[in-house]
Amino acid sequence: RQQAFAALRHLPAETRDGNHVSLLLNAGMLADLTHVEETGASGVGLYRTEIPFMIRSAYPDLPSQIDIYQRVIDRLGDRPVVFRTLDVGGDKRLPYFTYDDDENPAMGWRAIRISLDRPAMLRHQLRAMIRAAAGRPLSIMFPMVSEVAELDSALAVLAMEVARESARGASLPSPLSVGVMIEVPALCWQIDQVLERVDFLSVGSNDLMQFLFASDRGSPLLADRYDTLAPAMMKLLQLLVQKADAAGKPITVCGEMAGRPLEAMALLALGYRRLSMTPAAIGPIKTMVRSLDVAAISPYVCSLIESTDHSLRHKLRSLAKDHGV
Ligand code: PEP
Ligand code: MG
Repeated sequence: RQQAFAALRHLPAETRDGNHVSLLLNAGMLADLTHVEETGASGVGLYRTEIPFMIRSAYPDLPSQIDIYQRVIDRLGDRPVVFRTLDVGGDKRLPYFTYDDDENPAMGWRAIRISLDRPAMLRHQLRAMIRAAAGRPLSIMFPMVSEVAELDSALAVLAMEVARESARGASLPSPLSVGVMIEVPALCWQIDQVLERVDFLSVGSNDLMQFLFASDRGSPLLADRYDTLAPAMMKLLQLLVQKADAAGKPITVCGEMAGRPLEAMALLALGYRRLSMTPAAIGPIKTMVRSLDVAAISPYVCSLIESTDHSLRHKLRSLAKDHGV
């Protein structure tokens, strides 16, 4: 089976009705990048920068951070990579950083909240990325943003770092693209204003689902309680892709659902064309993409969104079967 997937590496990720789908990798270590050629992924849709921070025993200073990001960019050559700024806190702790215990760590002091409260860390990180990508493309995105005001604060820090590098006479990244993760439902109700400010969106469906249903993503007791294919989640995902398309800005799903064939089929039916996933999922997802006629299933999938079913999973499974997906 692995061999069958390897044989797909050079074939296009294109649906039967001619829609190209970008299949990207989620990564966090240099070693993960060996999977790019192996899978034929078109780039890295989510580089979790907290991973290199977590495996070190001391805070990586500016030169070490530049080195980390430069290696990633060099390793990928012409393929794009999206760097996500630190998403620590919650269950991801840095051994050399002190936290007060939060009662609900996933909803606590984490990600962009720490970055905005400790701007020196964010500034270092952005400076390192800007220098690592001098003269080359750079994509940066911010995690766990809950409101436009937070996004504006993060963008102001980035603008300050760009101005600082420019004043030094350094060569800047070109082009520099900035995006935001959609993980907190509140931000979805400011999506028009978000889209005016960023170049792309990336849906962190793991956290978005967790916060939409107030359901801990790590709890085994809740693992089967709510489904990512619930109408409420699908409706929100549809709103996001419609808004992004109308604004002409790319939108990617980088949560785990993007790497599951049935979920990915539903995302394509809603209009998504960019999916970022764990390396092992690329083969199965490409197989699904190549067997799918999106136009044939899209109206039916969209009609299901108004249903009051617990989940659309059973109906989507029958649909997939009927259409030979
Ligand atoms: C997500 O929340 O879906 C996501 C991609 O981010 P992480 O899994 O790193 O929280
Ligand atoms: Mg997340």
